[in-house]
Amino acid sequence: MRFDDHTRARLDELHANRLHRTLLTLESPPGPLATVGGRTFIQLASNDYLAHASHPDLIQAVADGAARWGVGAGAARLVTGHTGAHADAERALASLVGAEAALLFSTGYAANVGAIQSLLGPEDLVLSDALNHASLIDGCRLSGAKVLVYPHRDVEAASRLLAEHRARYRAALLVTDSVFSMDATAAPLAALRALTDAFDTGLMVDEAHALGIVGPAGRGLSADAGIVPDVLTGMLGKSLGLMGAFAAGRASTVDLILNRARSFVFSTGLSPALAAAIPAAVSLALAADERRTALAIATRTLADGLAAKGYDVRPGTGPILPVWLGTPDRALALAATLWDGGVLARAIRPPTVPPGTARLRVVPCALTSPSLVTQALAAFPPAP
Ligand SMILES: *Cc1c(COP(=O)(O)O)cnc(C)c1O
Repeated sequence: MRFDDHTRARLDELHANRLHRTLLTLESPPGPLATVGGRTFIQLASNDYLAHASHPDLIQAVADGAARWGVGAGAARLVTGHTGAHADAERALASLVGAEAALLFSTGYAANVGAIQSLLGPEDLVLSDALNHASLIDGCRLSGAKVLVYPHRDVEAASRLLAEHRARYRAALLVTDSVFSMDATAAPLAALRALTDAFDTGLMVDEAHALGIVGPAGRGLSADAGIVPDVLTGMLGKSLGLMGAFAAGRASTVDLILNRARSFVFSTGLSPALAAAIPAAVSLALAADERRTALAIATRTLADGLAAKGYDVRPGTGPILPVWLGTPDRALALAATLWDGGVLARAIRPPTVPPGTARLRVVPCALTSPSLVTQALAAFPPAP
């Protein structure tokens, strides 16, 4: 088969299964509204929960950072791409989560893949929640460690797996999202910490959807649960309004990640202009209690309104509202109806979620005002 025929055949499969995806071109900066094709939509699909991605203070911090440090790092951090801006940012991030040290990565995907791959090898064991983010799954695979998947949030099942398998491996690590990105469920972190301690196992927590939202001043679910993970990854592209991510933990753990994470060692450093804005992004997020309150109100009103229309909406921790529809067809149909009604919400289909659990992921932001919530709800037809 010609290569071109191969790619077209694979694309045809995606179309046939209603799993083909396309890019949506926004003509506006991030915020509660989005312009697409000259039309204005209520934005209910972004992870910019605090609406900090277009905050004037943060825009200024990036502009100042670019003026002071330039735009490109010019090399991997271990070569010559490490600046005072990166060092200051790492101190601010370690302090945000109460860790000894933190290491910046250019994306959360790179942080998760790199951290797991750097800490484990084929002699080791990794336990992974069944609904973990793709980047954690890929990190587990790349590490070469034995991977055991436990049912979502099932501490008992994880305990049985550790009892049966732990002794045969050199080191073990349990990895979990803190707030799960497509379900808004929260990992039972206190129980997982007790379990991993009992089995001489490390705990790695991905705080992507909890940082800026959950816990005291938005310090995350680990802080809320009063536990200290061995490795904590935090993403800067969601509530913090920038991009990039970090892995935090004991200084020795972070040193090993710095030395062995291939997505760190072999990748150009995060833009120093962005790095320079990280302390401002952290301060802004810590001081955002008013926005967190507004976000909680918008989330609650949307959830109540959707339930009143008969939708199977399953609120959890934070602003993510999964609206259960089952098949990709139903999720796509509702997204299309909302589009016609001026609301931007995206259908979430496999492989992002397990087959049979396609859904709409409805997410307000802190600037989704009560009147925008009312307008958005009006665009939802009664549930079929
Ligand atoms: C978004 C996300 C990531 C990846 O972070 P990026 O900075 O977007 O690459 C990792 N883990 C979870 C749970 C996420 O939601």
